[in-house]
Amino acid sequence: MNKARSRRVGLFGGTFDPVHIGHLRSALEMAEQFEFDELRLIPNFRPPHRDTPQVKPEQRLAMVELAAAGVDPLVVDDRELKRDKPSYTIDTLESLRGELEVQDQLFLLVGWDAFCGLPAWHRWEELLEHCHIVVLQRPDADSEPPEDLRDLLAARSVADPKAMTGPAGQITFVWQTPLAVSATQIRQLLSQGRSVRYLVPDAVLNYIEAHGLYQASH
Ligand code: ATP
Repeated sequence: MNKARSRRVGLFGGTFDPVHIGHLRSALEMAEQFEFDELRLIPNFRPPHRDTPQVKPEQRLAMVELAAAGVDPLVVDDRELKRDKPSYTIDTLESLRGELEVQDQLFLLVGWDAFCGLPAWHRWEELLEHCHIVVLQRPDADSEPPEDLRDLLAARSVADPKAMTGPAGQITFVWQTPLAVSATQIRQLLSQGRSVRYLVPDAVLNYIEAHGLYQASH
């Protein structure tokens, strides 16, 4: 039996097209607040027709790897990109659970909007068997949960994130003011030939420039 203490692993998924300082600050703040041993950035697979033309999935991944390189405890997990179709979160969780010790704690980070859509997720009622859910809430957001989630919240929510125990099964909320940056804005600036310096890490900026990504098609 493994007597090591349980590890605390956070999961932060996104398209990361491209990764930017909004994602990275948010991830780092969560990692500090929750004292994660590891915070996995998980680039999502996107069907070819929905991916940004000229930017390959491997390039989105390369940028996330550059952004996270040497930044403890950020790590990159490419399991969803390695598949040939979009992954259900439940599949990703089951796959991860196969690699962790049973006592390890998994924290799935989701935005409030995504959380409200939870009942539409594949096998959503099983998610909490594998992970805790941390809902990222904007301080100014309307936070009335949908009817279908009221019972779940009543049964599973924990007011103090520090009071979450066990490998899975609880829900908590954290309030964060997001930096006013989006990947959409970055793609637009680049397509207009404008700079995105300081909106992405320098290593990501250099990669974008070296590969001529997100430029207007000629
Ligand atoms: P797009 O503009 O292409 O929709 P995006 O910038 O919102 O992209 P995603 O890859 O879709 O980035 O987001 C991944 C996760 O990061 C989501 O949970 C999203 O809510 C969160 N996120 C996006 N932008 C920020 C930000 N500025 N600060 C904190 N979190 C963010």
